[in-house]
Formats: sequence, C-alpha cells, structure tokens
Amino acid sequence: MPLLRYLRETERWSAGALRDLQVGLLRRLIRHAYGHTAYYREILDERDLRPEDFGSVHDLAKLPLLDRATLRATLETRTAEGPPEVAIVKTTSGSSGQPVTVRYNAESRHWRDAIRWRGYGWGGYEIGMRALHYWGVAPVSTSTWWKKQKANVDHALKRDYYIDCTPRSEAALGKVVEDIKRLRPHVMVAYAAGAAALAKFINTKGLRAWEPIPVLTGAEGLLAHDRAAIEQGIGPAFDTYGCRETMLIGSECELHDGLHTSMENLIVEILVREDDGSMRAARPGELGEIAVTDLHNLACPMIRYLNGDLAVARADDRCACGRGLVKIGSVQGRVTETLQDAAGNPVGGLVFNVLFSMIGHVARDFRVTQRLDRSVVISIVPYVGDRLPEREERILFEHATKYLPGVPVTVDIVNEIPLTAAGKRRVVVVERA
Ligand SMILES: [Zn+2]
Repeated sequence: MPLLRYLRETERWSAGALRDLQVGLLRRLIRHAYGHTAYYREILDERDLRPEDFGSVHDLAKLPLLDRATLRATLETRTAEGPPEVAIVKTTSGSSGQPVTVRYNAESRHWRDAIRWRGYGWGGYEIGMRALHYWGVAPVSTSTWWKKQKANVDHALKRDYYIDCTPRSEAALGKVVEDIKRLRPHVMVAYAAGAAALAKFINTKGLRAWEPIPVLTGAEGLLAHDRAAIEQGIGPAFDTYGCRETMLIGSECELHDGLHTSMENLIVEILVREDDGSMRAARPGELGEIAVTDLHNLACPMIRYLNGDLAVARADDRCACGRGLVKIGSVQGRVTETLQDAAGNPVGGLVFNVLFSMIGHVARDFRVTQRLDRSVVISIVPYVGDRLPEREERILFEHATKYLPGVPVTVDIVNEIPLTAAGKRRVVVVERA
C-alpha cells in the first residue's frame, strides 16, 4: 500500500524526472549485477564497462540483449551470490512453448503488485472490488491439493470469479451473460479476443442488462473493432499489457490513447533490427521488438530482456491525462512463429505483423498460415465487401513474395478468424507435421 501511494505521486512527475529515477535504479541494478553475478561481471569486463558508465537510460544500449534462449541458459550465472535472496521462482510456458524460469526477490514482488494495482486503478479496478476474470484455460497445473485450496481462499477473499473464455458456443456465452447478471461484477479482466466474442454475442442478441462494466483487456492487442464491440456490449475497454516474466508493462489511462509504461519498475525499449542485424531504438510510429529491464529484481537481474512481443513506439510527450509516464502504442502480437521460404530459409513472422499495419485500414483481422507444403494462405476479414481494394491486395502479394521468395501465396477472404484453443489471436500460424 505505501508503494501504491508512492506510485500515484510519481506517475504525475515529468518524463524527465521519471527518467532520472530510472537512471538511479539502473545504476544500482548494474552495480549489484556486476558485483554479485558471474554473467554480468563477464559481460561488463568483456566490454571494459563499469557501473559508473551508465549515466542515462540510453547507455543501456552498451549491454547486449537477453533473448529467451539466453535467459534460460544463464539462470544460474545471473542469480546473485549476495542478498537480497530469491523469494519467488516462477516457470512460464511462454508462447514459444519453451519454458523459462524467472527468479526474483521480495522487493521486486511488491513493486510488481503495486504497479499492477496502479495500472488497474486507471481502468476503475480498485482493491476489494468484485471482479470477473474471463480468461483462458489455466496452464496445466502441477500444484498440490493444498495449493489449490489456498488459491480458492485467495480468490474468495479478493472477490474474484474465474470463467474460462475458451468455450464459444451460444450456450456457453449465454451462461456467461447469466453469470454477469448474477454476480454483478464491478469490473471484468479479460482476454481481448474473448471479451470481444462475448460482446458481439451480447450485441447481436440485445442482451445487455447492466450499467457499463469496465473491461481490462490483456494477453493480446486490442483491435479497434473489438474495442467498439466491448464498449457497446459490456463497458469501456482499458487495454493492458504485461508478460509473466515482469508482470504489468503498460496500461491505458482514461484517454485510451496508448499504454503508459511502468517506468518506476521497468525500462521499456522498443527496438528495430537493421538489415545488418544490429538493433536501434524505434522512431515514433515504428513497430519494434520490446526489451524490458527489471529495475527492482536484484536477486536475478534481467536486463534488456526480449520477451518476444512487438509494440509501436510513441514520442515522449506528456499525455493529456497529466501523467508523465511515457507511452507505447498498441502491442501487435507475439513474435512466435518462423516461416520458411521456398529454399527452406527461416523468415521471422515479424514481417507479417508489420504487414497488418499497412492494410489495417481495410481489414479488421487477418492471419498468415504456412501449410506443410510451404504454401502460404493470407486470411483476411475486410471491413466491407468480399474483397480487398486492388492497391492493398497488391501490397500483400508484393510483401509476401519479397519475404517468402518462391512460395505460392493465396489470399482467402473470410468472415471471421477463429481463435486458438486457448482463446487467443495468432497472427502467424505455421502448420507442423
Ligand atoms: Zn494518460
């Protein structure tokens, strides 16, 4: 609670003052990592760097990026030999299917909690409210009976209700509507695509029977037409973005114009990969890969972790809401899949995430699927009609042939793109034998 009160003051600081706070925390982190972890001692020594060499957040670029494979491989060498000790160990399955383990100290956990409640508060979700969580199926749990009992008690005390958002039959959606009427939640926390499917059902059947319930969406980017459907069917949508390794990274304020980043806990970079493989900071409006530095995790430092997500960079200007926390634009989905060109060379799915920003004004959803024979089908849901305008169709084909030379490409116009079994959107799907 003291941290939460603190964050409600710091969020009003200027971006410059918040950057200064970050630099101080970053220096502390690097000093600790250098003094107490084998991994960062080696990294800094190799580059002839000392903790004093980090005088601004831009100096972070002097350190290498930490991708998922490195994160996994360096768990022991990044774990600090001195206090604070590891208090929490969490293994996440991750969208790529390869599990990663994160370790952090108690202080880091308090920051994560306070940051989450601060961000949720912007969407009107305060501690103690009745919340309906409309979420995907829980990952296969190895937890014991006791852990389950503890979780049940936790949920009951926090007045949280959980409903699986993966069943999408009319009967299942109808039952959720009845649950909302019965539970009268103050707020909903939901997968963006799950809430959108529910809202469309409610709107089509004219079932809304409540005052607006704010919906905090997460787990995937919120599409514009989904936001409109949620607003009409349930209540105003507040997009949030986080990952299991660092928790809440950004959330929308009441102006719904980009996500304020959790600057007091994380440094969020958006990076663009150049043709020569080097990385540079994305310019405002550019889509890039997200790298996070976890400022309060001294027990097992995570510096410049590439979590596999993409977001649009924004200029650092102050939001009209008065908060100085710098913003990122929408999160565009996960870098998870690698396609192959006709010769079998790998092609990152990222190039197709970028594609959507080029045709997003004429298509409300899309998916790129590579079949086993390497042919590619681009499924498109146009805003109007049953085909794309000629110009956008040409852009699609040119883009696909440029990045996937020799691969046959077809465009398939559809009414709806089905979600995955876990209820999420996937932009790039690679079929496997
Ligand atoms: Zn704002």
